[in-house]
Amino acid sequence: MVKGFDAQAKSTSMSERVIPLVDQRLLALPAVLPVQPVLATGLLSDGLGRPLHDLRISVTDRCNFRCNYCMPKEVFNKDYAYMPHGDLLNFEEITRLAKVFVAHGVRKIRLTGGEPLLRKNLEILVAQLANIPTPDGSPLDLTLTTNGSLLARKAKALKEAGLNRVTVSLDGLDDTVFRAMNDVDFPVADVLDGIAAAKEAGLGRDTQGRLTGLKVNMVVKRTTNVDQILPMARHFRGSGITLRFIEYMDVGATNGWCMDEVLPSAELVQRIHAELPLVQLGHSAPGETAERWGFANAQGLHDPSLGEIGVISSVTQAFCRDCNRARLSTEGRLYLCLFASQGYDLRQLLRDPSQTDEVMAATIDAIWQGRSDQYSVLRSLRGPDTASGPGRRVEMSYIGG
Ligand code: SAM
Ligand code: SF4
Ligand code: SF4
Repeated sequence: MVKGFDAQAKSTSMSERVIPLVDQRLLALPAVLPVQPVLATGLLSDGLGRPLHDLRISVTDRCNFRCNYCMPKEVFNKDYAYMPHGDLLNFEEITRLAKVFVAHGVRKIRLTGGEPLLRKNLEILVAQLANIPTPDGSPLDLTLTTNGSLLARKAKALKEAGLNRVTVSLDGLDDTVFRAMNDVDFPVADVLDGIAAAKEAGLGRDTQGRLTGLKVNMVVKRTTNVDQILPMARHFRGSGITLRFIEYMDVGATNGWCMDEVLPSAELVQRIHAELPLVQLGHSAPGETAERWGFANAQGLHDPSLGEIGVISSVTQAFCRDCNRARLSTEGRLYLCLFASQGYDLRQLLRDPSQTDEVMAATIDAIWQGRSDQYSVLRSLRGPDTASGPGRRVEMSYIGG
């Protein structure tokens, strides 16, 4: 059977939508070999002058949730053919590539998926990545995005292996709303236990022991969980955990996205501000996608003990200008944008014994220099891209968020 969507090539019962026939994962761009090996200088920039700073590595295309905005049950059902294990990059291959990326300037690596904690022995990969030296001796920021379902069990081992911090996705505190959004009837309480375990294990604590890096992501859909915004803000205010609201995005081709479902971040900030006063804060790091808002005290000044929220306005305020992220898919394709339809096949190089790390470095150099992706900017100018067939975008569960 052909992998992925071919198995679902039919009109679905969820709507009039037709799931296209072509599986994007089959369409790889060849990684063209450079004429001459190039030394990585750490100063790489793309066609729009953007550096290479972040690498997101998807370690699995599987997930135990079926969030309707990401892996709708109607498509990712029991007939869906996930990638065979042999197609996945193994930990040594991932680490070898990560080293090359770090030599090129990457300082932040985020493990994602699918659900990354479903990948067996993930802490072994974490330990390997945590040991990668950076050319200037600055620490590598190693993090992971998870739905939290397995975090209570794994937080301690991940911290001990060298994971610095973690972002947990949670779309509401009301159990009925949350169970419906994850669509597998998973309870809120277990995710909250996972977050507590991460805190307890010291994930997200800086070298002075301050809790600065533990985050919770909430995707907001207008008709689904808008009533969860304030309860979530109240719950995490003063907890040391930063809550970030993400505008529902038109990633992939299966979630039936429409603009009416997007709650613009500006409106969301107003809703919170009306009850819990906020003040805008500056960006914490170059390429940081979240706009930061601090909870204010009675004088209208940010009170650090109350913490802050972040809003990620991927739809209403494109941030492509500063986008410094590369994405490595589960089977080793390099994607230059979350909305790309094709990735460059690096696995083919990894599995060719005649190819050295220098060749790999030069290949990545050439690919990054040729990058001009800015989908969100174009979306705001021309509207969403609704291509089907070969030009269709990859799914977020395949390249990670
Ligand atoms: N399974 C993990 C999780 O949920 O955290 C990691 C992978 S998930 C694809 C990464 C992030 O993407 C999550 O925070 C999720 O909420 C977000 N996401 C998925 N689909 C999205 C969409 N259509 N719009 C906005 N964010 C989305
Ligand atoms: Fe799974 Fe994460 Fe996608 Fe939800 S958002 S279906 S938890 S990969
Ligand atoms: Fe980066 Fe693509 Fe998102 Fe723009 S649309 S911010 S280029 S991932």
